[in-house]
Amino acid sequence: MARSEKYYGPDFNSLERQDPEIAAVVISELERQRHDLQLIASENFTSSAVLATMGSTLSNKYAEGYPGKRYYGGCEEVDKVEVIGIQRAKELFGAEHANLQPHSGASANVAVYQAFTKPGDTVLAMSLPHGGHLTHGSKVNFSGKWFNVVSYGVRQDNELIDYDQLRDLAIEHKPKMICSGATAYPSLIDFEKVRQICDEVGAIMWVDAAHFIGLVAGKAIPSPVPYADVVSFTTHKVLRGPRGGMILSKEKHAAAVDKAVFPGIQGGPIMSAVAGKAVVLKECATPAYQEYAKKVIENCKALANDLQSEGMRAVSGGTQTHLALIDIRSTGVNGKVADERCGKSGISLNKNSIPFDPESPAVTSGIRVGTAAITTQGMGKDEMKVIAGLIARAIKDGDDESKAKEIKSEIHQLTKKFSVYPEPSV
Ligand SMILES: *Cc1c(COP(=O)(O)O)cnc(C)c1O
Repeated sequence: MARSEKYYGPDFNSLERQDPEIAAVVISELERQRHDLQLIASENFTSSAVLATMGSTLSNKYAEGYPGKRYYGGCEEVDKVEVIGIQRAKELFGAEHANLQPHSGASANVAVYQAFTKPGDTVLAMSLPHGGHLTHGSKVNFSGKWFNVVSYGVRQDNELIDYDQLRDLAIEHKPKMICSGATAYPSLIDFEKVRQICDEVGAIMWVDAAHFIGLVAGKAIPSPVPYADVVSFTTHKVLRGPRGGMILSKEKHAAAVDKAVFPGIQGGPIMSAVAGKAVVLKECATPAYQEYAKKVIENCKALANDLQSEGMRAVSGGTQTHLALIDIRSTGVNGKVADERCGKSGISLNKNSIPFDPESPAVTSGIRVGTAAITTQGMGKDEMKVIAGLIARAIKDGDDESKAKEIKSEIHQLTKKFSVYPEPSV
């Protein structure tokens, strides 16, 4: 059969014919991604190969269960992608066990709680105002409602995790599980130290690596996998895969993890996303990806420094990862307003609490910036300097329509040189 006779899936023309209203949104979102500056630390541009799996007919298949042990017939083909994906994950991360089925990072975390704890158990996790995620004990999240989550934070003097406090709290509260990992922590985590504390109090060591797993995959920062009982993460942040989640664990926890994901918290896996995870895991094993991961950190260090040169302050003095937390109080503008002004100027980033923030979480004194997406576009240190200047101008002048427009057009000039998903040259 000729390739053209096969139907692979994504057919944008049929969407345009059948539903021009939705097609128009897909196109304008692509334009936004192409032209604006994407500094949201949890976002990236996944490859066309990954996008192809996600729009494929694998989406149609029900596959409750695991390869070789499904509750539905006709799983021979989708079994192959999951088997390949699991193998690639184990090899890439040196993990004993991998589960590729979680629908998202939050789903992966629900499964971790389900595998290792019972409602009412005590869990120790990073405080939300210091960078922890919703699933680390927020009162409006299942974690805070169903578990006794005790929080540790960062030290006020250096804004780094307070391991003495973590150990004291662990000894005092005897948690079932200790979580390390955060959504807004720019430094590295000392996994060896956390392991020691877990051993001292007999706690499960859980690392929520959602943000930084891509840097681990690219061998740019140390891996939590040798230390942790279980590592959960998203596949769409620095890792650059499809939207979804994944869990790695020691072999002794394999059955508990698998049972927690299915039938514990999910029904059928999204096999198109599982295929996308397999594809990105292959990409991650290349020297090009390792080069990318290294460059993401170099760019972020440069951007944090350049923002400091513009008069702002990088929390904890800079960054060792793909994200930087910037205290913008010196500008006289709060995080909420800065976020809005940057948005109007074509810069996509988010307001973020800084440790010991005097402002409320809805207002904040900071912004969070990340370099995963712009590094995928091919930007480097020269562009970081330009971007820092544009952010500073947007924060100062972005409420002025004409100045915001001027910044936006400079952003478009910049992103035009680093095009993602280039337009077909016909
Ligand atoms: C992003 C993130 C999650 C949640 O991922 P979703 O895919 O949005 O559900 C969980 N934990 C941490 C630390 C994260 O940064």
